[in-house]
Amino acid sequence: MDDRQFRQAMGNFATGVTVITTEIEGEQHGMTANAFMSVSLEPKLVVISIGEKAQMLGKIKESKKFAINVLSDVQQEYSMLFAGQIKEPRTVNFDSLAGLPVLTGAIAQVACEVVSEHVEGDHTLFIGKVLDFKVEEGDPLLFFKGKYRSLLPEMSFINK
Ligand code: FAD
Ligand code: NAD
Repeated sequence: MDDRQFRQAMGNFATGVTVITTEIEGEQHGMTANAFMSVSLEPKLVVISIGEKAQMLGKIKESKKFAINVLSDVQQEYSMLFAGQIKEPRTVNFDSLAGLPVLTGAIAQVACEVVSEHVEGDHTLFIGKVLDFKVEEGDPLLFFKGKYRSLLPEMSFINK
């Protein structure tokens, strides 16, 4: 089975885009991720999937906490920055939720503590118990066929 074709197949599943954030000794780290799912309502649980080569893996293992920031359609630059697609360093000012760094303007912010982790193939799944969450107005940034999209047709110029 071919990796590129598998990614192409998975890329046909349209998703939102999140930035996962955590903090170690006062230093914040963010990573773009679309492998995110709501798992349970009682108790409130979510899951994220982090690749074995990501810096974020060791950081969450150490902090045992993470936040999910669901990006709005005006936050594509954050997605690119935290995926390493913008090379020059940028200063990001984070807000705080339940002691975790979060991105201002994200349409949902969810602060979690890790309750379990499962190594599966080349990724680790972290189950997070929700400590607090916040919702803001806005439309989502979307990811489909390896490209950013928006619900608004007038923003389709972004990928052209
Ligand atoms: P690095 O590559 O070191 O950091 C990522 C970037 O964020 C760097 O450019 C860094 O400068 C910047 N950065 C980090 N913290 C800060 C800060 N405090 N201030 C300013 N800049 C900062 N990978 C997965 O494992 N799981 C997924 O679900 C996933 N989904 C993705 C979805 C999309 C749409 C995209 C584009 C990528 C996805 N990736 C996913 C890939 C992942 O985002 C990249 O491999 C990423 O570079 C890995 O980050 P890292 O933790 O290794 O950190
Ligand atoms: P792409 O065409 O590589 O991604 C399409 C879809 O394939 C993704 O939405 C995801 O479902 C799946 N996918 C891609 N890489 C994967 C991986 N290493 N492990 C598991 N699933 C994966 O999109 P792109 O624009 O080329 O992505 C940019 C970069 O971000 C690539 O390096 C890609 O590998 C990475 N990425 C990683 C994940 C992940 O680890 N879960 C998810 C999305 C993108």
